[in-house]
Amino acid sequence: MGTIFSWQKKTIQGITFLRLYGLFSLKSQHPPLSAIPFIMALSSSQDSQQQERNELIRDRFSRTISYLRLSITDRCNLRCLYCMPPSSIIQHAELLSYEEMLRVVGIAVGMGMNKLRLTGGEPLVRRGIMDFIRNLTEIKGLDEIRLTTNGVLLNDKAAELRRIGIRNLNISLDSMQRDKFLKITGGDFFDQVWQSIQTACDLGFNVKINVVAMKGINDDEFIDFAKLALQRPVQVRFIEFMPIGNKENWDKSRFISAGELQTLISTLGTLEPLGQGRPSVAGTLDGAGATAGHGRPSVAGSTSSAPRLEGPARVYRLTTPDGQTGKVGFISPISHHFCDQCNRLRLTSEGRLRACLLHNHETDLKALLRQGGTDSEIQEAIRETILNKPKGHTMQNDQTASGLTHCVGQMSQIGG
Ligand code: SAM
Ligand code: SF4
Repeated sequence: MGTIFSWQKKTIQGITFLRLYGLFSLKSQHPPLSAIPFIMALSSSQDSQQQERNELIRDRFSRTISYLRLSITDRCNLRCLYCMPPSSIIQHAELLSYEEMLRVVGIAVGMGMNKLRLTGGEPLVRRGIMDFIRNLTEIKGLDEIRLTTNGVLLNDKAAELRRIGIRNLNISLDSMQRDKFLKITGGDFFDQVWQSIQTACDLGFNVKINVVAMKGINDDEFIDFAKLALQRPVQVRFIEFMPIGNKENWDKSRFISAGELQTLISTLGTLEPLGQGRPSVAGTLDGAGATAGHGRPSVAGSTSSAPRLEGPARVYRLTTPDGQTGKVGFISPISHHFCDQCNRLRLTSEGRLRACLLHNHETDLKALLRQGGTDSEIQEAIRETILNKPKGHTMQNDQTASGLTHCVGQMSQIGG
């Protein structure tokens, strides 16, 4: 016993598999004793490598920053009233090139980050985006690439995105009424976006619909949006209106909290927290959904079961009295911070690393890249940004104050 004739090593997505030929195989149910120390040595060295990588992306508050959000461009084919001032364009030379982005992502993944979201601006307007995504899929250790899009150009690209391996799409849609869509976005593209959503569903993407909730603008459609989640295989996510982006259109009176939204949606049926995934520490949203509107108690008000925190969203299963079900999420950056769970780092379209969407501190990575910075210097800059990630933001919907402080920077540059 114990003679090994040959072995074969294969690495799949960063995990090394060994198959030994001769007297035994590692696939065998009962490897001889002599094989055991060898197998254990292999896995413990992998564990320590993983631990080292995890250390590199752990911040001062023990959060593991594994998720990079990349703003591909600050440009967009829409001008949503909450996001982009009509005249905002920066010179293309100031954007990071695809090569620069690939380099940064590669280094970040080497440090242990394993999820990437492509956002913007509108990622699909940048020329060469499909080749760029294809190149990203070649990066070993990058487990997931997600895309946030306004859907205008998605329909023609959806099949190719699916083929490349993208599975998760967030599509923004603030109104299902053609004229209101035009009013909110400045573009007469409702039909295109609607078609994109249909196509994405047909192609089997996990589709999330992002709805920015604005009092007096689209509040008459919140119930219709929740019904959309009952009728189609999409998760509808209501996002609190944030004082970031287009300053001129921020108006505190338009703000509606996730708690209020949840109460409204619970008039349709029971909201059951989806308890898998990372638990939400705080559980439910403030004052929300204590009683469903049809007289039955809604579990949404319960504190015993925390809703699933899927990214920043608290996710619920909505079940109507006649048995229809769907998933709805509530994103509450203002009323109910999720900072203690935050695992994100952002790279702006101009190459600045930003540790918090609602915190203005940024590190100029583009300068380092263009002054010949080495990989280890770039890694060090990423590490420092992670270490300096603030514990949380202080932005609140303080009804007694004059309003929320406005963030510096455009949402489209930072990447929403
Ligand atoms: N263009 C793409 C889109 O619209 O989906 C991606 C970029 S956009 C900045 C990303 C997300 O940020 C969108 O869902 C958008 O609705 C959201 N967003 C932009 N400005 C916002 C604001 N002031 N408050 C809340 N959400 C905002
Ligand atoms: Fe463009 Fe998206 Fe901003 Fe709307 S939210 S203006 S689609 S970047």
